[in-house]
Amino acid sequence: MFDAISPAAKAAPEAFNSSKQRLWHPLWFAFISAIGLTLLLNGHFLQAVQAKVPGQYGLQLNLVAILFLLNLLLVVLFSFRRLQKPAVLVFFAIGAFSYYFIDSFGIVIDKAMLQNAVETDVAEAKGILTVSMIWQVFGMMLFPILCISLIKVRSLPAMQFFKHWLLALVLVVLSLGSLIASGFSELAPFFRNYKDVKHLALPFSPMSAAVSFSSDLIKQQFPTKFVQLGQDAVQPLAVKTDKPRLIVLVLGETARADHFQLNGYARPTNPKLSQLPVYSFKDVSSCGTATAHSVPCMFSNMGRENYKETIAKNSSNILDVLAKAGINVNWLDNNSGCKGVCARVPTDLVFEQQQNPLCTDGQCLDPVLLEALDKQLQKPVTSDRLIVLHQMGSHGPEYYRRSAGSDKVFLPECTDKQIQLCAPTDIVNAYDNSIVATDSLLAGVIERLNKEQNYQTAMFYLSDHGESLGESGIYLHGLPYWMAPKAQTQVPMLWWMSGAYASSQQLTAECIAARQQNPYSHDNLFHSLLGMFKVSTDLYQSGKDIFHTC
Ligand SMILES: [Zn+2]
Repeated sequence: MFDAISPAAKAAPEAFNSSKQRLWHPLWFAFISAIGLTLLLNGHFLQAVQAKVPGQYGLQLNLVAILFLLNLLLVVLFSFRRLQKPAVLVFFAIGAFSYYFIDSFGIVIDKAMLQNAVETDVAEAKGILTVSMIWQVFGMMLFPILCISLIKVRSLPAMQFFKHWLLALVLVVLSLGSLIASGFSELAPFFRNYKDVKHLALPFSPMSAAVSFSSDLIKQQFPTKFVQLGQDAVQPLAVKTDKPRLIVLVLGETARADHFQLNGYARPTNPKLSQLPVYSFKDVSSCGTATAHSVPCMFSNMGRENYKETIAKNSSNILDVLAKAGINVNWLDNNSGCKGVCARVPTDLVFEQQQNPLCTDGQCLDPVLLEALDKQLQKPVTSDRLIVLHQMGSHGPEYYRRSAGSDKVFLPECTDKQIQLCAPTDIVNAYDNSIVATDSLLAGVIERLNKEQNYQTAMFYLSDHGESLGESGIYLHGLPYWMAPKAQTQVPMLWWMSGAYASSQQLTAECIAARQQNPYSHDNLFHSLLGMFKVSTDLYQSGKDIFHTC
């Protein structure tokens, strides 16, 4: 279909056509191979999709089409003449092995499983490798082997092949992009709720796990040297106070600024904080739209524009710099961990409690953080302290699991994991109750700090990113920053300080109140924390310290 007819063909058209009919264009071979891979290996994927979203035929079709295009992309990438058939056979073999493990043991081949496989000894391997496994895999391979050996693929001139190959790649990528973009509002919650389904997508899933595993192995061969920052950090004697400072930094989760009553939201989501002398900064943007990006970024000194994950993971963050200056730092976590930022400070994973009535199914309500804070406050510490409370906050999609008792103000709540099936008002009710629960938590922190006699106290609260609640069909978070709505990037930021802290730091209420409308971002956290403890270091930029010259 792509070739011009050569003079030789004109001379003997019949002979030419009959020989040509038996030769396939390599990209047509790739197309049929991708159909074969998708249909022969994905019985479990199709079953899971049907079971998870029954009756949602549009979403089901979209998922299958995306899997087909991913498989097509894989095959097209390896469509070079001598490589193509062996590559397709390898894809079928990987798929057949993975299918066997899913089918026989319910085991999916992900990165962790590959790690296990590499670390397995011979005895363990023998326990898995059986004759029946070889037969079953061979049985699945028989039809593809037969087809591949019978089909003859045409050899194209290099330049012509390259043009066709590039065009095919562009078409596949564009089709994938448009399918994902058009179905994003359904796809995002699907993959959030049913993370396991993507592991059933064969052979794409084990292939991508293998690539990711190999890249980790390569990275381990070249360990990046850890860069110590802020080695000059000190608290000059002149800024030491008669009582040590205690600052509680509450790291929020998935809280969006415009659902805080303190920021003008019409519903009473801050019933307790609105009665307290709390400052709310109303124009604050996050570094990213997901925890794994925002948290390391906000604790680093790189700022959003220059943030690089590998550099952040391999250099000191603000917690390290404060600890270097002699401040006692503790991290209490009720989220899923601290994304590496607390790696070098004492950490308490409070969500791992088994017997606590606040915890069910491995998740705890945020008041467990108050219990952990109380324990910390009983410790005799004579230096300045920073205690970080990492909340579960408003983590979705099960917002209703983030509040309890008197915090459930707005009813009825959406209790479906597939939130897009709930009434929009029920989603907002469940989400707003989680904000009320955060309001209770923060008021509980302030109550404790207000009573504290041994320290000069203050509390700083900042959320990691916002959340879409179905506006324009968008749910949850994690969109690329450039296309994310403000619901995902505008976050609440609050400040409370005791009278003793305010007077020793010479902070006036008027000065802070006047700054509540200023634009701030996660970039301000690093320098503001240095300022809060009056730590001196070359890293400090007073222009980024929210409280400087107050
Ligand atoms: Zn988050």
